[in-house]
Amino acid sequence: MRHQAPRKRFGQNFLTDEHVIAEIVDSLRIDADTHVVEIGPGRAALTHPIAQRVKAVGAQLSVVEIDRDLAGDLPIRLLPFELPKGHLIQSDALKVNFSELKATTNKSKFVVVGNLPYNISTPILFHLMKFAADIDFGVFMLQKEVVERITAGPGNKTFGRLSVMMQYHAEMDSLLTVPPGAFYPPPKVTSAVFRLTPFNTPPCPVKDERDFAHVVREAFGQRRKTLRAIFKNVINSEQLEAISINPLARAETLSLADFARLSDCYSDLNRD
Ligand code: SAM
Repeated sequence: MRHQAPRKRFGQNFLTDEHVIAEIVDSLRIDADTHVVEIGPGRAALTHPIAQRVKAVGAQLSVVEIDRDLAGDLPIRLLPFELPKGHLIQSDALKVNFSELKATTNKSKFVVVGNLPYNISTPILFHLMKFAADIDFGVFMLQKEVVERITAGPGNKTFGRLSVMMQYHAEMDSLLTVPPGAFYPPPKVTSAVFRLTPFNTPPCPVKDERDFAHVVREAFGQRRKTLRAIFKNVINSEQLEAISINPLARAETLSLADFARLSDCYSDLNRD
């Protein structure tokens, strides 16, 4: 097997710390009714112990790897376990329809795991949220700073679009902090593992999720502007006040519930 150098463009920092690997595998709570999907198996640091557990309990494993060479080596790295045809997917995770992947087995629990490539971890999370209804939970390694952005609340300087969109769909639990030395090559920053559990029903459901995504994107796209200025073409100051939102406020001060009311107001007025 060739031993190619880690590829920066694919965010390849391979896990080497056995303790961290064991904690992540344990956190997946794999049982006979679980279908685990790993994004970016790389050199199989996580995949191998996951495959062991999957085989022991009769679960199902799928992997999605963009790097053609690493994907090609996986059957050897995973020996003596065999991934059934169609479950070793050489593709960009951003192009995978995770609901269709879930439907390839009859397992009732669908769990996604990944030590995510740091350069596209945020787009991957946004992509996964499109399939939130089909995902029981996900366990992801990300830059610690990104986990802090995801979990931040209003008023915090890291609170932004990512925080609101993720908190709308899912509950987040921090599992562990991982220092650079746990990887080869070591990244420049500290990483963190967290569990993301999509809600069955969002705590602040909105009338139209596309409008919600639009409103949140607009609001944070012009962070320094007041909400009145940003939405002046659709919502006026009186209408903002009627839903208890200060027209002179900025996006970073709004709670998830405020955004939900703003989104519903936008949906009502934009329809006319
Ligand atoms: N899971 C391995 C580990 O923990 O050692 C590798 C983790 S490494 C941080 C990220 C992995 O994701 C690499 O194998 C990389 O090739 C793969 N990857 C990068 N971009 C991807 C994408 N868009 N879709 C699927 N896999 C991707």
